[in-house]
Amino acid sequence: MTSRAEKLDEFRGHPGFEFIKQDVSNEVAVDGVVTHVLHLASPASPLDFPDYPIQIVKVGTVGTYHMLGLALAKNARFLLASTSEVYGDPLVHPQPESYWGNVNPIGPRGCYDESKRGAEAFAMAYHRARGVDTRIVRIFNTYGPGMRADDGRVVPNFIGQALRGEPLTVYGDGSQTRSLCYIDDLVEGLLAVLEGGDDLPINLGNPVETTMLELAALVVRLTGSRSQVEFQPLPTDDPKKRCPDISRARELLGWEPKVTLEAGLARTVDYFRAALAR
Ligand code: UDP
Repeated sequence: MTSRAEKLDEFRGHPGFEFIKQDVSNEVAVDGVVTHVLHLASPASPLDFPDYPIQIVKVGTVGTYHMLGLALAKNARFLLASTSEVYGDPLVHPQPESYWGNVNPIGPRGCYDESKRGAEAFAMAYHRARGVDTRIVRIFNTYGPGMRADDGRVVPNFIGQALRGEPLTVYGDGSQTRSLCYIDDLVEGLLAVLEGGDDLPINLGNPVETTMLELAALVVRLTGSRSQVEFQPLPTDDPKKRCPDISRARELLGWEPKVTLEAGLARTVDYFRAALAR
């Protein structure tokens, strides 16, 4: 729903690659041997939440159920992409996996937050009751090349605005923080969890925290833009702070992010510059 078929172009000629289009919220059927099931499907931008709340609840709950069923039937290892949103607007900072969160179930983010919390419960249930070999990763804000220009999340918004010479839309007073992880680090983390993790959740994210105003200034500098900042209302239930405690990933997997925010943003700026020129 929120991606494009062209993103698979670079894999299409590969002999080990096959694309089968199915909707995991309806049913999943895969012939032959399956060794790993990675359930990564879901819209994840807050901009998508008002447009697709039902699809988001379905893919997190019913979709997870179907993917766990596939893993059970095939005796495959299962990985769930959960989210830092399970911590909601956190009252503990930084957030360790042991924190249960502070989530509004009926707010505009509830469709995403609660379905991912339900997905975690589904994974634990299949692990405990059926012995499925499950992994749960709680992914914190991640960015990088390949994101939609109209994704709506802060990095593509700021970069696109800076490159077009438009004002950067800072929501609220910009003092809220996020901790931004570059995509390559995150992918390495996912693979490390798949191989070396256990059944309990593992935070994956970059623990370097930044305010949205600092991020805006950095994007302006990296793009060489003359854009100013324009303040807009803070969305409902927007978390004030977010930062992963990644001690568990460090100890269990020896994993930690390597790409600095500046280096990751520079690569992302290059991507969007080329995409805008097309
Ligand atoms: N944000 C912003 N301007 C934008 C988009 C987002 O100031 O154009 C803020 C948003 O209010 C939030 C942070 O950036 O505090 C991260 O938002 P995003 O939508 O990227 O992800 P979230 O972490 O909220 O799921």
